[in-house]
Amino acid sequence: MPLLPSRISRRALIAAAPALLLPRAGLAALLPTPPATEGPFYPDPLPAEQDNDLVKIEGAVREADGEILDLTGTLSDASGRPLPGVRVEIWQCDANGVYLHPGSRGAGGRDPAFQGFGHAVAGADGSFAFRTIVPVPYPGRTPHIHVKLLQGGRELLTTQLYIAGHPQNARDWLFRRLSPAEQAAVSLELKPAAERAAFETAVRLVVAA
Ligand code: FE
Repeated sequence: MPLLPSRISRRALIAAAPALLLPRAGLAALLPTPPATEGPFYPDPLPAEQDNDLVKIEGAVREADGEILDLTGTLSDASGRPLPGVRVEIWQCDANGVYLHPGSRGAGGRDPAFQGFGHAVAGADGSFAFRTIVPVPYPGRTPHIHVKLLQGGRELLTTQLYIAGHPQNARDWLFRRLSPAEQAAVSLELKPAAERAAFETAVRLVVAA
């Protein structure tokens, strides 16, 4: 009697498919988010307000210029276990292409209503959320959002997130050096948002063990 049946019914294959596709617990199944350079514009100094809403600064009479983006995410290790308590920092230039940094300049000047930097702490399920703007290009770079993950002051990962399908990605020196799978892992699919924001997106960040 053969060890393997010579003919496997189509129904049996379909029934087994979900089990075959699911990664087995304990296996490092997720692609770690590729790291990227911090770049020259980590905020200097850091803003007084550092919450997860970069669009609204307390006491400001208006919200930031630009298209508002609800950015949600989950943070896990490579086996899918959530990483609660990790500090998630983001920073990006404002709608005029200017960072919170003395070395950053743009034609329109800095938008004083944009916080430029913010942080969230990952919840028990590894989730985090930001309200920010859709990133815009600045000379030499395709649009991106910088991200840094810290656990008890120790840096876990520094990376950059891009807009999926943006025409300038293909010419960007940092985006181009990523493999197609890595590019997909750091690309945000923007979807029209119902309320409060123009767009919404979700990202999965994976820290290598
Ligand atoms: Fe940058």
